[in-house]
Amino acid sequence: MKTLHHFIGGHAVAGTSGRFGDVTDPATGEITAKVPLASKSEVEAAIANAHAAFPAWAAVPAAKRAQVLFHFRDLIIKDMDNLARLVSTEHGKTIPDAKGSIARGLEVVEYACGIPQLLKGEITEQAATGVDVYSLRQPLGVCAGITPFNFPAMVPLWMFPMAIACGNSFVLKPSEKDPSTSLRLAELMLEAGLPEGVLNVVMGDKDAVDTLIADPRVPALSFVGSTGIGRQIYANGAAHGKRVQALCGAKNHLVVMPDADMDQVTDALMGAAYGSAGERCMAVSVAVAVGEETADEVIRRLAPRVRDLKVGPYTDAEAEMGPVITKESLERIKGYVDAGVKAGAKLVVDGRDLVMQGHENGFFLGGCLFDRVTPEMSIYTDEIFGPVLAVVRVADYETALGLVNDHQYGNGTAIFTRDGDAARNFVARVQAGMVGVNVPIPVPVAYHSFGGWKQSLFGDLHIYGPDGVKFYTKQKAVTARWPSGIRSGAQFHFKSGAEH
Ligand code: NAD
Repeated sequence: MKTLHHFIGGHAVAGTSGRFGDVTDPATGEITAKVPLASKSEVEAAIANAHAAFPAWAAVPAAKRAQVLFHFRDLIIKDMDNLARLVSTEHGKTIPDAKGSIARGLEVVEYACGIPQLLKGEITEQAATGVDVYSLRQPLGVCAGITPFNFPAMVPLWMFPMAIACGNSFVLKPSEKDPSTSLRLAELMLEAGLPEGVLNVVMGDKDAVDTLIADPRVPALSFVGSTGIGRQIYANGAAHGKRVQALCGAKNHLVVMPDADMDQVTDALMGAAYGSAGERCMAVSVAVAVGEETADEVIRRLAPRVRDLKVGPYTDAEAEMGPVITKESLERIKGYVDAGVKAGAKLVVDGRDLVMQGHENGFFLGGCLFDRVTPEMSIYTDEIFGPVLAVVRVADYETALGLVNDHQYGNGTAIFTRDGDAARNFVARVQAGMVGVNVPIPVPVAYHSFGGWKQSLFGDLHIYGPDGVKFYTKQKAVTARWPSGIRSGAQFHFKSGAEH
């Protein structure tokens, strides 16, 4: 069995804390690697390297920094098969799904390649007589990223390429459940020409994160993960005077209007609820059917499709959905399904007893479909993060909208309809950060920013895109007067530009 390492100062560094976590192949249940869990001093070594590398990197012209990202992009494309295999063996998702997620991360790298344009400031010539005012954006220093298990390539790629393009150095703390992809990405950045120390990867758990939060050399933290932990990190980070963006959990509703194209709805729900075994923060976990007939039709069409879902390991090219991440996760999801049945929801398709031939120790679960779910049930209120879809029946559009708006989470949502008025009304009034109109998983492209509302995000700025540039830079406004024979004498009161 291999033992993983940290990546500090451009080198593989063995863990010295004596603490290790297990990396497991979810398809077999076998432990495939030991991952070191960093101590305070190991994290501090990573921060020290990033801190030392920062001034020189920040001074590199943006166009030269972009060259590194161009190379990095090419290397990711060349290494795509290997990266996808790393993602799938440690996360469990199918190879096409792994490749799709890497491709979405790659879009952010491509966006970051445009950093000379993105960092262009603003200038006002002659703001007052002989006075010019300009604003520019400068890097922050050592930025840190803490990432979840469900997108071991994509979420790190939302963070460090943008931060590094802006001139920062970076310490990444990936999920300890599937950490190998981050190590590979860091190697590729080095190969692309990034100076040693600009990107560091520390393996670890809460101890590592607490050290990143407390260290005064780290001015900014990006976190993606569950709501309970994100809320704490946001509060602790703010108490330490840091800039924090914490993207968190979700319960994404898809509203089905009676006039929707039902073929489109069925395909959308299948992919969005069961793709990646429901382990996506933008997965659809609630279908809100408007009208009894709509609900009956949704269930009639979905039930056989969910029963026929091809569940399998990533080595099975036919598989549509892989296992979930851990045994604990499997048990937790099954517990929610039990609770839903107990609370009186109708379990139309029960995936709890699925046994995968030849992979009996894998963490497999079949797709589960509930009908007649009501808002007080835990399968409705909580993020399950598994292949479980809840259908809620409502009488009209206003009730559907009210459900989405009253939910604690507000990450993504969607409406399926042929009615432009209804769609426009939904877009205007819905309380969520990302909205789809006949699009089930509205993850914005890289040149828009990604983020939810309510308990799905703590912080002001969304991630990647234009908000990414803002998050990883601070603004400076310069007011400059050059001697030109203008003398206005001592000024004892504020003057506006118009008075000069
Ligand atoms: P998690 O919150 O358990 O872990 C996220 C990160 O925090 C990991 O790196 C983990 O090591 C670290 N961590 C765990 N416990 C900690 C603690 N007590 N203190 C400090 N750090 C700690 O999340 P997960 O299970 O890896 O990922 C799934 C969650 O992530 C889901 O809730 C999902 O919705 C969310 N997610 C959100 C988005 C988004 O953009 N909103 C994207 C992907 C995933």
